[in-house]
Amino acid sequence: MIFKVLNYGGNLKMKNVMRWVAVLFLLGGMTSAWSAGIEFRQVTTGVYAYVGPLTDRTPENLGLNNNIGLIDTSEGWVFVDSGAGDLAAKALEKAAQKIKSQPVVAVVNLGSQDHRWLGNDYFARQGAKIYAYQGTVATQKKMFAQLQSSLVRKVPALKGTKMKTADKVLDAEQNSFSIGGVAMQLNFYGDAHFPGDAVLWLPKQQVLFTGDIVYVDRMLGIHPWSNVVSWNAAYQSMRALPAEFVVPGHGRVTNWQQADAETGDYLAKLVETMTEEAENFSGVGAAVSANVNWPAFKHLKHYDSWHKRNLNRAYLQIEASL
Ligand SMILES: [Zn+2]
Repeated sequence: MIFKVLNYGGNLKMKNVMRWVAVLFLLGGMTSAWSAGIEFRQVTTGVYAYVGPLTDRTPENLGLNNNIGLIDTSEGWVFVDSGAGDLAAKALEKAAQKIKSQPVVAVVNLGSQDHRWLGNDYFARQGAKIYAYQGTVATQKKMFAQLQSSLVRKVPALKGTKMKTADKVLDAEQNSFSIGGVAMQLNFYGDAHFPGDAVLWLPKQQVLFTGDIVYVDRMLGIHPWSNVVSWNAAYQSMRALPAEFVVPGHGRVTNWQQADAETGDYLAKLVETMTEEAENFSGVGAAVSANVNWPAFKHLKHYDSWHKRNLNRAYLQIEASL
């Protein structure tokens, strides 16, 4: 079609040429829109993060509405979490190869939510070793079928993903190891968003990958299987790490100040307030309606849809434990 337009020549027709060029450019852009959307940004030397959108899982984002870490080592890439299935893992791998073409030698899983580990099978087939804390692996095995089916309802292209858990299952609460010259520590501080959630600490780079223990920019979510009391305690223990860079599970790469303001303070307030309400036998309805308005957290995305649910679940969990 470009030829046809070119054959006409003339100034007026030049406008048409430009229009076609623009249309073709747009079409080209659309087909590569998603792969262009996955981009790792440098956190500090040799450490990168992909920051996922704050929306839900969609066919367009391949379930990658979370953050993923990437570490450059002398042996190759190490991924911190593996994405929501084969296609997502492949897209992540492609984005890493854009920075440097080298094999993916390992994946460290921080959690058992779909987008943290359903890409394990893909990376294992490329030769990567999977690392995870034993409590994470236990939850992954227990929840695989449930996670997979609810994910596929939202992102049908991810169906058929196979379960693959860690080759190196780490049992201690603090596990120090090194891959390709980079010292790492996989730490467990307590059940949180999911049972067995862990964090990865890079002591030299002072980078902390928190997985879903920290959310910034958006409201965190208490699920029926989350443990609000131990999540709060886990956050407080983890807080002792002298992190210069905090890569949260969701939201921008940040520091302790924002993590405290948007996760630590929220969890502490949830536990404190709902413990008081439960001890006073307020009843869940009254406890929720007395606390719907927490101005310090209203700026967080999804506050309206998640805050009430969080209050509700926190009250019921705490009441049941009294
Ligand atoms: Zn998540």
